[in-house]
Amino acid sequence: MPLADFDVVLGLEVHAQLLTRSKIFCGCSTAFGAEPNAHTCPVCLALPGALPWLNREVVEMAVRAGLALGCAIQPTSVFARKNYFYPDLPKGYQISQYERPICLGGAVEFDLGGEERRVRLTRIHMEEDAGKNLHDLAADGSSGVDLNRAGVPLLEIVSEPELRSVDEAVEYLKALRAVLVALGVNDGNLEEGSFRCDANVSVKPRGAARLGQRCEIKNMNSFRFLRQAVEFEVRRQVEVIEAGGKVEQETRLFDPARGETRAMRSKEEAHDYRYFPEPDLPPVRVDPALVAAARAALPELPRARARRYQERLGLPAADAGLIAGEPEVARFFDAALEASGKGAEAARRIANWLNGDVARLANESGLAPRDWRLSPGALAELVGLIEAGTVGGPGAKQVLEECFRSGASPAAVVREKGLAQVSDAAAIDAVVERVLAASPAEVERYRAGNAKLLGFFVGQVMKEMKGKGNPAVVNAAVKKKLGGP
Ligand code: ADP
Ligand code: ZN
Ligand code: MG
Repeated sequence: MPLADFDVVLGLEVHAQLLTRSKIFCGCSTAFGAEPNAHTCPVCLALPGALPWLNREVVEMAVRAGLALGCAIQPTSVFARKNYFYPDLPKGYQISQYERPICLGGAVEFDLGGEERRVRLTRIHMEEDAGKNLHDLAADGSSGVDLNRAGVPLLEIVSEPELRSVDEAVEYLKALRAVLVALGVNDGNLEEGSFRCDANVSVKPRGAARLGQRCEIKNMNSFRFLRQAVEFEVRRQVEVIEAGGKVEQETRLFDPARGETRAMRSKEEAHDYRYFPEPDLPPVRVDPALVAAARAALPELPRARARRYQERLGLPAADAGLIAGEPEVARFFDAALEASGKGAEAARRIANWLNGDVARLANESGLAPRDWRLSPGALAELVGLIEAGTVGGPGAKQVLEECFRSGASPAAVVREKGLAQVSDAAAIDAVVERVLAASPAEVERYRAGNAKLLGFFVGQVMKEMKGKGNPAVVNAAVKKKLGGP
């Protein structure tokens, strides 16, 4: 059977680092990038006798995320020990939640190809992150362990096996990430690993009711790698079945250098975690008043924001979704619109610039909106200059690039670089006359009925004026001088 005769089924486990200042079970800082082991204490080093105590803000953030995703917040949940040995785990167990997580149910909603999709969540639970092994530290090739990350709070968000393609998986992750970032509980950074995803992948004959055996894939720190990993894994599983074999349940590691997944460990061993309730922490009780307060304080969520942009500002769905899907970009957009002091017309222009040239410049520079030198006020000013006819399309592009690079004000750039659009009729007429005089044959053909040549003349005039001619005035002047065909 070819690939097309199989259904792909995906379930995702997301680990999102919470943006608390201190760790989940001690007062150590969660700040990234310090000297190895600078942010440690007896608790996160697992010294004998040290006891954990729960950071209240972790619970509040879990509740906020649960409410935003429509989960049932559990009045009582229980921490559990997940036992395994690894050098980056000094206690020999991870404190997580198992049978009684803080959130059950809920869903992530997103659009795919114009269709609305809703993928249900199984659960959300709180847990601690592990440390990091550092290899080849010295000339002797020795390894070390950095425990700065040990005890950093995580939410694990587990989906039902309801995703049907890698495209869906990517949209699901973008939507989930946008919600968490909008809530201020996560920074959404895949590359740095503060938003990580393991993908459970299985295939089954098209239309079959029973799910196939799954493999869990780890180590994908970008959407591109997720795509490669899942596509490789689907092909591999189909080939195993085609060859008459059986897919074994196992954990596989994605190798970005080869674009392949490789068996890491079989699931049977991995499952032997000997979970039991954490004896050093009491059950977590969530006060209904805390839930009510969190609900009342929820910010506008990305999908609601996108809907508002469509309904109130008339943005096309795709543009609204792009902006609202990146909470930092959305804040920038709102600020620019406010600075413009105008309504829907300015909104469309600002959105076009944001999704077009600004997005391109941001990509090329790798800068997040908070690090842009372009301010919302500057983008509003540029749009104002365009609306007033002070600068034309090609000039505006140049102005934007300069403002993005240097943080200068658009009006100043227009002045200093001489990019102002020329609308002066006498100046334009002079250029038109020169252009027509230089191409008598084309003028002849135009007057004989070849109307298409209008574009040629306009292009010549624009070229002479280095793109600064006001297109409407140039067009009119060319038509007038040529006389109608
Ligand atoms: P484990 O700890 O064994 O990984 P979890 O319950 O934490 O178990 O995660 C299971 C994940 O695997 C969920 O996201 C679930 O949707 C997904 N899953 C379960 N069965 C399948 C399957 N047959 N195909 C694809 N994904 C699956
Ligand atoms: Zn500590
Ligand atoms: Mg798993």
